[in-house]
Amino acid sequence: MEKIVEALRKNGFTVTECADRKAAADYLAGSISGKTVGMGGSMTLGALDVYDRLAADNTVFWHQVTPGDDVCVQADNAQVYITSANAVSEEGYILNIDGRGNRTAGTIMKKERVIVVVGENKLSGPFPQALERARNVAAPLNAKRLNKKTPCAADGKCHDCASPDRLCNVLVVLWGKPSWCEQMEVLLIHEDLGY
Ligand code: SF4
Repeated sequence: MEKIVEALRKNGFTVTECADRKAAADYLAGSISGKTVGMGGSMTLGALDVYDRLAADNTVFWHQVTPGDDVCVQADNAQVYITSANAVSEEGYILNIDGRGNRTAGTIMKKERVIVVVGENKLSGPFPQALERARNVAAPLNAKRLNKKTPCAADGKCHDCASPDRLCNVLVVLWGKPSWCEQMEVLLIHEDLGY
């Protein structure tokens, strides 16, 4: 784990470590105030249960609370964006696969601050293993959760499908902090969270 933290820092990401989801929620609620905040679709963020606390001090856009494409666009254009990741590689690369592209766009649009909330289970080996995790663990579990009619929802493996319900249309690999993002932070939580 220390090797990945070191690699993330070398790539320009700030790394903050929290013991558990409660400490992570406290950190987020305590460090964001008076901002527009976008949140990406994420089981990890759901587990933190932080939306109401953020909404008390900020204007928060999250389609898991208010569904719709408009909310996703507002989230992508917010000052601060919070998301999770499908995997983080040994080299300190952050991977996200997306269907619509809203969550991936949120991480690369111009921002004051992007926070990528990552449970320990997302830490992977070298890049090919991280990509394997994103395609053969995260995407099938998300397809199943969302009741998508994809072959992976049935057997848990990627078939590189051509389904209209395909979730895997966009892959963003953050090799480093995008230069027009003022701060990109990995909030590493020392427990397993999300897919
Ligand atoms: S490409 Fe299709 S089969 Fe593969 S993980 Fe994505 S949705 Fe599932």
